[in-house]
Amino acid sequence: MIYLNETHDPALQSWVESANAADNGFPIQNLPFGVFRAAASNASFRPGVAIGNKALDLAALAQAQPWAGEAGAALAACQDMQLNGLMSLGQAHWSALRLALSRALRAGSPLQSLLEPLLLDQASLEFALPAHIGDYTDFYISLHHAMAVGKQFRPDNPLLPNYKWVPIGYHGRASSIGVSGQKFARPVGQTRPATEGSPPSFGPCERLDYELELGIFVGAGNPQGQRIPIAQAESHVFGLCILNDWSARDLQAWEYQPLGPFLAKNFATTISPWIVTLEALAPFRTAFVRDASDPQPLPYLSSEDNKAAGAFDIALDVLLSTQQSRASKAPAAVLSSSNFKEAYWNVAQLLAHHTVNGCNLQSGDLLGTGTLSGPNMGQEGSLLEMNRGGKQPIKLPWGEERVFLQDHDEIILRASCSKPGYPTISFGECAGMVLPARL
Ligand code: CA
Repeated sequence: MIYLNETHDPALQSWVESANAADNGFPIQNLPFGVFRAAASNASFRPGVAIGNKALDLAALAQAQPWAGEAGAALAACQDMQLNGLMSLGQAHWSALRLALSRALRAGSPLQSLLEPLLLDQASLEFALPAHIGDYTDFYISLHHAMAVGKQFRPDNPLLPNYKWVPIGYHGRASSIGVSGQKFARPVGQTRPATEGSPPSFGPCERLDYELELGIFVGAGNPQGQRIPIAQAESHVFGLCILNDWSARDLQAWEYQPLGPFLAKNFATTISPWIVTLEALAPFRTAFVRDASDPQPLPYLSSEDNKAAGAFDIALDVLLSTQQSRASKAPAAVLSSSNFKEAYWNVAQLLAHHTVNGCNLQSGDLLGTGTLSGPNMGQEGSLLEMNRGGKQPIKLPWGEERVFLQDHDEIILRASCSKPGYPTISFGECAGMVLPARL
């Protein structure tokens, strides 16, 4: 576990003025990693960190070799087009680089003149996937989501008996993961026959949905056959991003038994461009509490440290804009808000569970948390929950209604951490748009 250190001092100020503005989201205490280039250019994508409304080009900084030791080695790994090299070095290197960057970006740093020419306006950039994602797993860790969806399919038995023992997951599709700004065609496929025994329908998905999730980027992996114990699990996590698991509910309902989601989920997944490191999230750790009336996690999914501080307080929001709202310049509507701390399982448990059978994780692998719904109305992480299984349209402030997503709808997911006396840590945005089906 990473405890608080000098990089978390809330009083730290940067010589990058915009990083000191209240609630700018990218203060010197954040320093998330991403991969970018000048928009519409032919330049190579390069790693960097966000600071205020700027991004620091780490590939260019590496050329100057400002640091020795672990920080220098970590910076030298930031010259590829993706972050896998840095991720594979492990926590001591990431932490050394964070400390060196924090000191270099602080007000009064002697390195200001070296770094200042390497800053780019974030608004002038385009982003790519921050890592090569070899494998993508999606979990299902919100009990509130599992109950709400389970009730629609099995009113008498919403929660299957394994749920409170096993962090449920499935292997997803890595090739169709895109970065914020992703646009994709409405999927086409088979849906349940109108009457049992007749052939299925075939055509564009009519029940297209989003899922509000976080993504967990694996840093250093584990050899096949060697599990990651829960006590070491977090040291294998590079950081978290926002994730939208686009879901075709009508395709899902027809195909999901007996082997789970397939074409309903693998056509597109969108993530935010910035990865907020676990170290940056340390001030927002919170106790992981399992209700006394529930089964307690098996020993391989539990530790004293994990109980004390294994959850994270991360506020989440879903916003929707439509062709009509954008034409009338109406702001995107907030559909719901929830928090990662409500989840039934936590980050360390997911890695410990994923590897308990000897499965090897690799640098850049991505684990989705599953839809992060809260317990109350207004905290639903998907339309399926908000519309009560497609029965209740959602009224939008500009007069339209939605049951499921229509063509040209844009979903914007946001995540941030805040508490009194500490600068807000933002994950930025994860935006994606549905285009018409290609028939
Ligand atoms: Ca999901």
